[in-house]
Amino acid sequence: MMMRYFSAEYIIPVSSYPIKNGVIAIDDDGSICGVYDVLSAPKDVEIEVLDGVLIPGFINTHCHLELSHMKGLIAKETGLVNFIGEVLNNRTPTNPDDVNQAMFAADTLMFNNGIQAVGDHVNSAVSATIKSESKIKYHTFVEIIGFKDEDAVAKIDNAKEIEFYFDSQHSSITPHAPYSCSKAIFKYLKKSTTDNNIISIHNQESEEENKFFRYKTGDFIDFYDRMGLNLDFFKAQARNSIQSYLSYLPLNNKCILVHNTFTSLKDLDFINRMGRDVVMCLCPKANLYIEGTLPKINILSEHLDNIAIGTDSFASNDTLSILDELKVIHAQFKDLDFITTIKWATLNGAKALGLDAELGSLEVGKKPGLVLLKGMTMLKINENVEVERIV
Ligand SMILES: [Zn+2]
Repeated sequence: MMMRYFSAEYIIPVSSYPIKNGVIAIDDDGSICGVYDVLSAPKDVEIEVLDGVLIPGFINTHCHLELSHMKGLIAKETGLVNFIGEVLNNRTPTNPDDVNQAMFAADTLMFNNGIQAVGDHVNSAVSATIKSESKIKYHTFVEIIGFKDEDAVAKIDNAKEIEFYFDSQHSSITPHAPYSCSKAIFKYLKKSTTDNNIISIHNQESEEENKFFRYKTGDFIDFYDRMGLNLDFFKAQARNSIQSYLSYLPLNNKCILVHNTFTSLKDLDFINRMGRDVVMCLCPKANLYIEGTLPKINILSEHLDNIAIGTDSFASNDTLSILDELKVIHAQFKDLDFITTIKWATLNGAKALGLDAELGSLEVGKKPGLVLLKGMTMLKINENVEVERIV
């Protein structure tokens, strides 16, 4: 066994305080064997001295690998309802090889960008082979999209068939969004699922979603109209979407709420009162791409400790880099502390995906990857910071 020792200006274990001039020992299978401060570091060993800040591998809590071929296809800032229409029109490529190549390139890029694990949404099994051969650990969320009550059972059965192609320990079935699943789907899923089926649902990505649930008005009405759906069954709820549908989700299951761009303070109070295991996943660059706006991240961080970060897919992002997401967050919310957000970008994501026994923090016995952030000023992110994978 070959042990390697690294030191850097700071080591950020995430699960404990940053260590100035710390030393970390890693064996050749990637397991952490020791994390030391200057005084306790072993003598008489060769230490590789790195210029920067060492962190565990990033966790990308939200992505859609199978949309990787859609980079640059959809115009920016045209709103979510238009975006969904464009994805539905463009997701099936003329040449399936293009998708495989694009997924492979995206997987390699994410690994090189320091990403250790990905929470990945699918509507098909096309990403199964790439995931099984990847250095990245994936949790696959098979999405259910179904607008009609009468299709509910068939849609859930179909999702279970797709799930069969993925690692059964690291996959689950999830409603895509509150506006894309009928009430019957929520009902059958709640009845048929087990407690360890992690839910990951797009939440309040657009104000149109709230408008639809509150008043039964807005762009979703036209969208359903174009799809030939009769909306007579739907009654305006006089409250935002999350307050209408959260109780439809199975009670004991962990829920990742993705985006939260238009989540209000009242919604946050509601979520906290429900006392459920909820993680809020932020995808700031995708929000800027689609809606041209960001969630109220400062307010979210004051009211919740369970925040994680995702890139979303190449359909709504020009990079797949958690560091780039952090740059956007820190440029906009200057009071946020990097020690807070690095936890969102690592350990919280690992917990959200049920991977924290191995990933998300630099602790003895874990295999979390080792990533160097170069060009930070003290412990602050600036736009010139770069990421380098060390292990
Ligand atoms: Zn998404």
